[in-house]
Amino acid sequence: MSWSEICGHERQKEFFERAVLSGRVVHAYLFSGPSRVGKTTFALELVKLLNCLNPTEEGSCDRCENCRLIINLTHPDISFLFPSGDYLKIDEIRSFVRWLNFKPLMGKMKVGIIEEAEKLTEEAANCLLKTLEEPPGESMVILITSQRASLLPTIISRCQVVEFSPLSSSEISNYLVEKKGWKEEEARRASSFSQGSLGKAEEIKEGRSGLEDKFWELWYKLKSERDSLSLGSWFYDNKEQLPLIMIFLEQYLRDLWVWKVTEGQCSNLLFFEKEKVQEEAKEQEAETWRRLIILVDNLISDISGNLNWDIVLCRFLFLWRGEWNRASSSRN
Ligand SMILES: [Zn+2]
Repeated sequence: MSWSEICGHERQKEFFERAVLSGRVVHAYLFSGPSRVGKTTFALELVKLLNCLNPTEEGSCDRCENCRLIINLTHPDISFLFPSGDYLKIDEIRSFVRWLNFKPLMGKMKVGIIEEAEKLTEEAANCLLKTLEEPPGESMVILITSQRASLLPTIISRCQVVEFSPLSSSEISNYLVEKKGWKEEEARRASSFSQGSLGKAEEIKEGRSGLEDKFWELWYKLKSERDSLSLGSWFYDNKEQLPLIMIFLEQYLRDLWVWKVTEGQCSNLLFFEKEKVQEEAKEQEAETWRRLIILVDNLISDISGNLNWDIVLCRFLFLWRGEWNRASSSRN
């Protein structure tokens, strides 16, 4: 794998190509951006490029000993630090710093990658400061975070920050077709549900049938279930998969709204068969479909924002039922 095998992030690739070519690589980076957009994959590729014995313009060779060991995650000079629980504690940082202080055994550069850096306790962060300021010899630290605001400013100021953004649907879709051999239609659908994450697109394909069944189950419950408790417990039972199921719901509502607004003249629906959309779009006015989309959008951002689950869910069900019934009763 070389740079060209990484999906998107072109600006960041150019940035590091220039830095490596001109020898201006610094010793502490902070990779910041939404989760699962490829920050760790990118870090690993950078580490490989820095240690490759035969790098070319395309990037690392993938064949030399350093490359192979890095790919297998068994290189003695590369280390990952993951929080073992809710926090990254001082003991873990101490042994990480100790490891970093030894000279590289076979690589050109010793690199320590700290995942979920926002979980550093204040004590642990302070312990890391000196290393970030005066890193030992041929060493580099890459901190990775999706919650930059939770990091101490003193940590951020000692790193060169590299921002990562969600990938665009077309970047993901083209990548899946060109590099993974997916069918175009399949890639287009999965990428439209992926919220800018390649990992999520692949997960959607793998679990698509299961998720789709769950989505329909929820859909018919939302349409007809009068018992809020039973609806609420369905949400609890499916809490893990809920973020993905809600994306299906949001996209389906969009299809219904588009169908209604264009009176069936739209050619590219995101979701299911035309017949299904045609039949269901009639059930509500365009304005109601639009309001329901907003409700679901809000729920999606609330559940990813760590708000109180009970309150979020209760409000959603209450507002959903209100919209649905108001529209039905105004027709009668
Ligand atoms: Zn190599």
